[in-house]
Amino acid sequence: MAKNIFYYFVLLLALLLYPINYVSAHDYYTIRKGDTLIHIARNFQVSVQEIMAANNIKNPDCILIGQQVVIPNQKKENQTHVVGRGETLSHIAKGYQISLAEIIRINQIKNPDLIYPGQKIVIPSNNPVNIQEDSEPNFIWPAEGWISSYFGKRGDNFHFGIDVANEIGTPIMAAECGEVIFCGTASGYGKLIIIDHSKEYLTYYAHNLKNNVKEGDVVFQGQIIAFMGTTGNATGPHLHFEVRKNGVPQDPMDFLHQ
Ligand SMILES: [Zn+2]
Repeated sequence: MAKNIFYYFVLLLALLLYPINYVSAHDYYTIRKGDTLIHIARNFQVSVQEIMAANNIKNPDCILIGQQVVIPNQKKENQTHVVGRGETLSHIAKGYQISLAEIIRINQIKNPDLIYPGQKIVIPSNNPVNIQEDSEPNFIWPAEGWISSYFGKRGDNFHFGIDVANEIGTPIMAAECGEVIFCGTASGYGKLIIIDHSKEYLTYYAHNLKNNVKEGDVVFQGQIIAFMGTTGNATGPHLHFEVRKNGVPQDPMDFLHQ
């Protein structure tokens, strides 16, 4: 008797699983030069977030040529997005290729600046809108500490970055994902790392005690790339951090949230 129930159960399970297997067949896509996740998502009519989730991609700007990505099934019902740390509504809207106004309307959000991690946001599935692709990079603070020197004129010289001071050995993190294009020692800078974030941006991390990456590494935002030191022209332990756009030093404070 128990055996019969077992067989029925197996049969039922097989019947249930068959259509699930069928509908969950995935498409695959191999990333080519010039592709962006936004283009791929648009072509397959899925959201960037869905592709990122299905492939465990942490940053949509960090995809590699030749990388094979799973294209999840197209879904038509509304989805729910759980707000992560540091996310803004405009990032979420961009990720799903829908307008910010639409998210605010559907969720009846009174103040778009007041969203909190863990909050559930309904993402409408209809009518993706065109979104801007050439956004500014989203840098995070590369180290904990206090600012001992700002960008700008300093005596007779010009200070091309900011100095973040802290104890020797304090971890230094990649401000945004990118490729390490220099890792070594440079005059004045001491032990230096330069990361290329594409979109014309480079970041510099100088005076390091020890570099923790090598040239050619693709690093993720927040990855520990070095430890704070005093190498090069430094009187005390600090990180000298530069942001360069098309080679021109920018004030890093314009990119960092307070
Ligand atoms: Zn400096």
